[in-house]
Parts: sequence; structure tokens; C-alpha cells
Amino acid sequence: MQSKFLNDKQVLVLRLDIDEEVVASILKAAEHYKIPSGIVSGIGAVNFAEIGLYDTSKKKYIKTTLREPLEIAALNGSLSKKDGSPYAHLHVVFGDSDGRTYGGHLDRATVSATAEIFVQINPEPIERSYSADIGLNLMALQETL
Ligand code: ZN
Repeated sequence: MQSKFLNDKQVLVLRLDIDEEVVASILKAAEHYKIPSGIVSGIGAVNFAEIGLYDTSKKKYIKTTLREPLEIAALNGSLSKKDGSPYAHLHVVFGDSDGRTYGGHLDRATVSATAEIFVQINPEPIERSYSADIGLNLMALQETL
């Protein structure tokens, strides 16, 4: 993985290389650069991915494993913190060789060529806490409207 800061360190650019795992690489960069919170977007190519859909009644993810060449047509999400450690919440849309798409919550994906990821860095942290009602680690924000 290569990295470069832009715009007075407000934007971090990551270039992931073959066999690197997308989610782990983003978390590694967040830890290394001590990113309080951020907005993640990216594109790239992978040949393995695990995506999921959160089943709200069972409170667990229904997982799908993809083992084929795929374009990352869109990678979007956030960086925050859970118990002081970086926390990535990422969603993805993949395109296959026929132009069909798969999408969902991204658990992990292995780069087949490259991935180009931009992180817009916020100076303030966003913490997460576990919600037993929902079964997920929700953002803990300050105000209720
Ligand atoms: Zn999700």
C-alpha cells in the first residue's frame, strides 16, 4: 500500500496493490495516521470478496462470498472509532464481466490489480457504541433532533 496526503493533510490517498485486503488496509492506514473520523470512497479491482446484508430480525449478517474478477464500481463509507480503535463501515458495489452488479456491506475483499481509495479526514472523532436493540455498533452522536 502506498499513501499520500493532499490538501493540507485533509485528504489521504491510498493505493492498494495485488493481494492486499481492502478493509484491513483502510484500518491500518487509519491506525497509522491516527485518523479521528473520515469519509471513504474508492474504486478498484478485486478477485475475492465477502459482502453482507444485515438481517434486522435475526440481528446478523447474511453473507455472500464472491470469487471472480470484479470491478469495485463504488466503495463508500465512514471511518470512526469503537473503544478507541479505528472502525470502518464500508459498503460496496461490484461489477462483473457481464456488467452485472453485486452490492452490500463489505466485510473483506482482495485486490487483484489496484484500488484507489480517498479518505476525507475530519479532525473530530466519531465514536460508536453497541446497540442491543439493533444489534449493531451505532454512531454515538451528541444531539437528538
Ligand atoms: Zn453496513
